[in-house]
Amino acid sequence: MRKEEEFNDWYNNIVEEAGLVDKRYPVKGMNVWLPYGWKAMRLIDALIRREMERTEHDEVCFPLLIPKTEFDKEAEHIAGFGAEVYWVTHAGNNELDVPLLLRPTSETAMYPMFSLWVRSHTDLPLKTFQLVNTFRYETKQTKAFIRMREIHFFEAHTCHVDFEDAERQIAEDLEIMKHFAKDLCIPYLLTKRPDWDKFAGAYYTVGLDTIMPTGRTLQLGSIHQYKTNFAVPYNITYENEGGEQVHAHQTTYGMSERLLGTVVGIHGDEKGIIFPPSIAPIQAVIVPILSKGNQEHVMEEARKLEEELKAEGIRVHLDDRDFRPGYKYNDWELRGVPLRLEIGMRDIEGGHVMAACRVQGKKILVKREGAGEQIKLIFQEQQEILWQKARSILEESIRTIEDYNQYEEGTIAKAGWCGEEECGHTIEDFTGAAILGTPVPEEETPEGTRCCVCGAHAPSWIYIAKTH
Ligand SMILES: [Zn+2]
Repeated sequence: MRKEEEFNDWYNNIVEEAGLVDKRYPVKGMNVWLPYGWKAMRLIDALIRREMERTEHDEVCFPLLIPKTEFDKEAEHIAGFGAEVYWVTHAGNNELDVPLLLRPTSETAMYPMFSLWVRSHTDLPLKTFQLVNTFRYETKQTKAFIRMREIHFFEAHTCHVDFEDAERQIAEDLEIMKHFAKDLCIPYLLTKRPDWDKFAGAYYTVGLDTIMPTGRTLQLGSIHQYKTNFAVPYNITYENEGGEQVHAHQTTYGMSERLLGTVVGIHGDEKGIIFPPSIAPIQAVIVPILSKGNQEHVMEEARKLEEELKAEGIRVHLDDRDFRPGYKYNDWELRGVPLRLEIGMRDIEGGHVMAACRVQGKKILVKREGAGEQIKLIFQEQQEILWQKARSILEESIRTIEDYNQYEEGTIAKAGWCGEEECGHTIEDFTGAAILGTPVPEEETPEGTRCCVCGAHAPSWIYIAKTH
């Protein structure tokens, strides 16, 4: 199946064929994570935890259920999420006095507690995060990892003394994303969302979007500056150095299992998934090439190689199943293992192993001695190739246009914008595409840049794309 031509079918098949999820669970939008997929997700989570620890965020874990009374405190937030909420109205045989909801996101679970925790300026900044499942009653067609009703969610929530300190947090979030995206080999575009599309309750939202092989963008995550929009209704105040009670400023940063969906979607090919070594559940698979009379010897050498690579910290698997090598090759290519190591009598005698590189699409001889070090270098090269390839696809998809009529499907258009909401809506209505937002960091337009709708002076650029 050609990936570009039939992306949706390709994607829907591959996530199951490769053993990431089982979609047969009898609740729509809720899949079962299979061991191989869950391992990949856990490796992504580990990268997130590494970044959170590096930047001194503390991991917390809040309850899943939120009382309606707490949810009801921030009006815009309710308006934004109300239609997506799952309710728990009964417990046993009793109707609950106060209905409970399954968290769609955790502001309304955390902030009543933050108001107890934050007392003095010495308690700030408060930097927390959690990796939990959230629930949203999605009405569009669901898609594994990309549009789910039960979501594997990362959310960082912070409190600060003032707006400037919260802005510093957002700068730190952007730097975290830079590291993290490089590891996943997923490039992204940073934009400040237009006001009509910001997160419910946010002062502003920065969207992180990447482009999928469909030519549509997919939001990977988002970062929100709340100012005191939540601190006021949730009464998160602290005593400043002057002894006054003032409201804390807050930010959040959210991402999800979509990260895994984009890795699958962006890097895969006709043969299947291609995992970057950074998050590959199996980085190298050893396939012994057995022929009559040497089975035991080859297996013994294969096991030795496995032990050696394991000791070097490589996630290695020895495929000792009773199948023909050709079958195993296809199977591991489908599952996206970055490196296949073939070892047979000729290799043992020659003091090497044959390495088939999934990313480079070539075979190279690796010296048996010091194989681990050489393999790690191949992994590095693979990371770089995947990153550069995905980056050039994103860069090449961006086209500067002067008039919104010139918008082409499958591209991300960059156009001058006067800043008027009406012009934004005209673009969206006419093209069927969405305004992703204005560039972050801000980018000045050259003199004479005109709004792509009304022709007035355009102080900023906007990005326009069809989205998933
Ligand atoms: Zn305009």
